[in-house]
Amino acid sequence: MTDFEKLAELLLPNTLKTPDYYENLYQSRNLPEGAAVTRIAPSPTGYLHLGTLFMALVNRITADSTDGTMFIRIEDTDKKREIEGGIEDIVNGLEHFGVHIDEGFTVEGQKGEYGPYQQSHRAEIYQCYVKKLIEQGLAYPCFCTAEELEEVRAQQEKDKIRTGYHGKWAKHRDITYEEAKALVEEGKPYVIRLKSQGSEDKKIVFTDGIKGKIEMPENDEDFVLLKSDGIPTYHFAHAVDDHLMKTTHVIRGDEWISSTPKHLELFKLLGFKAPKYAHVAPIMKLDNGNKRKISKRKDPEAAVRYFIEQGFPAESVIEYLMTIASSEFEAWRKANKLESYKKFKFNLKKMSLSGALFDGAKLLDVSKNVICLKNSDIVVKELITWAEEFDKEFADLLKRDMEFTKKIFAIDRDVPKPRKDIARYSEAKEYAAYFFNELFVPNFELPENISKEDAVSLLKAYKSVYDEKDEQSEWFEKIKSICPDLGFAPDTKTYKANPEAYKGNPGDVSTLIRIAVTGRTNTPDLCSIMKTIGKDESLKRIDNAIATFEA
Ligand code: GLU
Repeated sequence: MTDFEKLAELLLPNTLKTPDYYENLYQSRNLPEGAAVTRIAPSPTGYLHLGTLFMALVNRITADSTDGTMFIRIEDTDKKREIEGGIEDIVNGLEHFGVHIDEGFTVEGQKGEYGPYQQSHRAEIYQCYVKKLIEQGLAYPCFCTAEELEEVRAQQEKDKIRTGYHGKWAKHRDITYEEAKALVEEGKPYVIRLKSQGSEDKKIVFTDGIKGKIEMPENDEDFVLLKSDGIPTYHFAHAVDDHLMKTTHVIRGDEWISSTPKHLELFKLLGFKAPKYAHVAPIMKLDNGNKRKISKRKDPEAAVRYFIEQGFPAESVIEYLMTIASSEFEAWRKANKLESYKKFKFNLKKMSLSGALFDGAKLLDVSKNVICLKNSDIVVKELITWAEEFDKEFADLLKRDMEFTKKIFAIDRDVPKPRKDIARYSEAKEYAAYFFNELFVPNFELPENISKEDAVSLLKAYKSVYDEKDEQSEWFEKIKSICPDLGFAPDTKTYKANPEAYKGNPGDVSTLIRIAVTGRTNTPDLCSIMKTIGKDESLKRIDNAIATFEA
C-alpha cells in the first residue's frame, strides 16, 4: 500500500465501493446520436424563481431540438437554507408552465435510472470518487481553521498576491500520511481539497455554447471537494453527478463561468469526458437607470408565483421568456402564429450575451396576443380556475350562469381577427363588470357634441327601433336611421363632407348607447353585448340613462 492509499483508507475507511462499481451501474443512455442530455440543478431554498424557470425552458428546448432528454437534480447539500415544500414547488411550478421534466423529481414522483437525483442522498458516491483521488495523490485533507485561512488571505492581500489556497499558500498540500494520521487521531476537523495540477501561467480554452471561445488561466487552486461534514461542494458534486448522469450539455447561469476552469480540471483528473458548457446571462431589471440582476428579495416578479397570482396564462410567461431566449423567436412567431413554441428551431448560439431586461409591458402585450387566440371555452375555464384561487366572489359570479359567462367571453373572440383585450385574468373582472348587475357602475358622462336634450331624444328614438334580434349590420342601420331627424348625419361620409351641418355622426350615437348600456365609451361589439345582457336589462339601462339626463 502506498502512503496515499493509506491516507485514503484512514480518511474514508467505510467507503468500500470503487468508482468502477458506479461506472458499471450507470450505463450509457440509449439515445439517438447527437441527442442532448440537459438538466437543471436547483436548490430547494425558495419558491420557483423566474431565473430557474427560464433556465429550465432553455434546457428543455435544447433537449427537444435534438430528441434528447432533460432531468432535474436537486442540489440540497445546504440543509440549513432548504425550505419545506421547496422541491414540490419547483417541480409543480415547472409543470404548470408546461416545462416538462423527463427524469429525476417529476410530478409523477421520482423516476429514472441515474438516481438518486438528490445530492443529499449521494454522499457514498462522492466519497468513493474522492477516495480514489486521494489514493492517486490528487486530493488531500486540509486541517486549516477559518482563522488560519483568514490570516493567509490577509497576508496575500498585503503582499498583493492573488488570494486563495494555491501553490505555496496551500499549507497541507504535501501533508504526509503520518502527519495527517496524528491530526485525525487528535480529532481535528478537516476538509478534503483537490491537489490542483494546474498552473496560472497556462491557459485553458473551451467553447461555450453561447459565448463562443473562452480562454482563461488554468485553475491552480486547491479548492475544497468535501466539506468537514463529508458533504461535497458544488464543484465536486457537479463533476461527479453530471458525469454519472451522462449530461451532455451543462446549461447554467453565467455566474459559473469563472469556476469553469475548476470544473474542467476536475473532469480531467477524474478521467471523465467534460460536457459542453453554455452559460446563460441572467434576466436583468432596470433600477434607477441601472441594470441589475433580478432579485429574489427586491422584485416581486422574481418568484413565478407572482405571474400566477396576476393571472397570466402559463403560455404567456413562456412565450415571453422565449423572446428573451432567442432574438429570432419574434419573427418566427409572426410567421407561425398558431404553432407551439416547441416547433421553433432553438439555437443556443443565438442567445443574448448580456442579460435581457425584464420588460413587464412587453409581457402584457405578449399575453394579450396569447389570450386573444384562445377559444372562449378555454378562456372561461382558465379564468374560473384563476378566480377560484384568487377571487372567490368573482368565481361564484362567473359560475352562476355558465351559458351567460361563455357568451360574455365569446364576444369578439373565436373569430379570425379576435380583439386583444385582457392580458391577465386579474383584469377580467373589470373587463366584464357591466355584464353583472352587482358590478356594473353606470356612468352618464356625455361626449362633448351631445347635449342632455339630444341624448334623451336619441335614446328615445333608438328605443322605438331597437329589436334585440337584429344582427350587427341591421343593428347599425337602425342607429343610422334615427340620425337625420335629430340633426345627426346618416353616415360618416356625409358627416365628413360637411361637419358644420351636423351635430355628429352615427358613431357618436352608438357611443351614447354604449355609455347608457355599459357605462363605458370603449367596449367590444355593442350589438353582441346587448344581446348577451338581454333586451330587458338593456332597456332598463337605457331608461335609467334617459331618466338621469332628463332630471
Ligand atoms: N445549484 C446551482 C445553481 O442554482 C446549479 C448550477 C448548475 O446548473 O450547475 O446555480
